[in-house]
Amino acid sequence: MSLHAEDRDGDGDRRRLPATPAQRAWTMPALPAGRLRRVVEAPEPVLSQPGADVDPNAAEIIQLAADLVATHAVSPGCVGLAAHQLGVAQRVFSLDVSGHPRTRTCHGLLVLCNATVSSATRRERGREGCMSVPDFTGDVARARRVTVRGQLPVTGAWVDLATDAFEAVALQHEIDHTNGVLFLDRVTGPHAVHPRRTYQ
Ligand SMILES: [Zn+2]
Repeated sequence: MSLHAEDRDGDGDRRRLPATPAQRAWTMPALPAGRLRRVVEAPEPVLSQPGADVDPNAAEIIQLAADLVATHAVSPGCVGLAAHQLGVAQRVFSLDVSGHPRTRTCHGLLVLCNATVSSATRRERGREGCMSVPDFTGDVARARRVTVRGQLPVTGAWVDLATDAFEAVALQHEIDHTNGVLFLDRVTGPHAVHPRRTYQ
């Protein structure tokens, strides 16, 4: 998921609440150095393929996790990146919503494998963007409170994340990628797709 111009400008009419670092009983395992990889764009067919379950302990999945983090880190406005966006239909993504104005609960940098949404409530509509859909943003209704279950790379440990607000939305966006679903598949109607403002 990527930020859109409105977020970059700030949304002054929203009530701002300070972000809260999540209490988490686990730490992200250290990853090897990642490689920068090309981000594919729609209508690249891989973006619509359901992802395969992965072995979080496998060397190629650990490298994929590192490549996601490295590519994510150099992409302006990127808050999450899924393996599908690197051309690989496997269920892995990276996420980091630190510093976003709509973030409340924040788990920092995450890489999750085989993640699913185990509970979702408080659906609201909001604007989303995606590095793989560079010319448009869209209005999507998603839960603002979720619990997500997934596995950490390297250790394979299962973790449950309870979160809200922007992190909840971004997690749902990335889990959708791992299932071959784009935000364009979920927009709330024909008037819910907007040309993206040019800012780069
Ligand atoms: Zn995306």
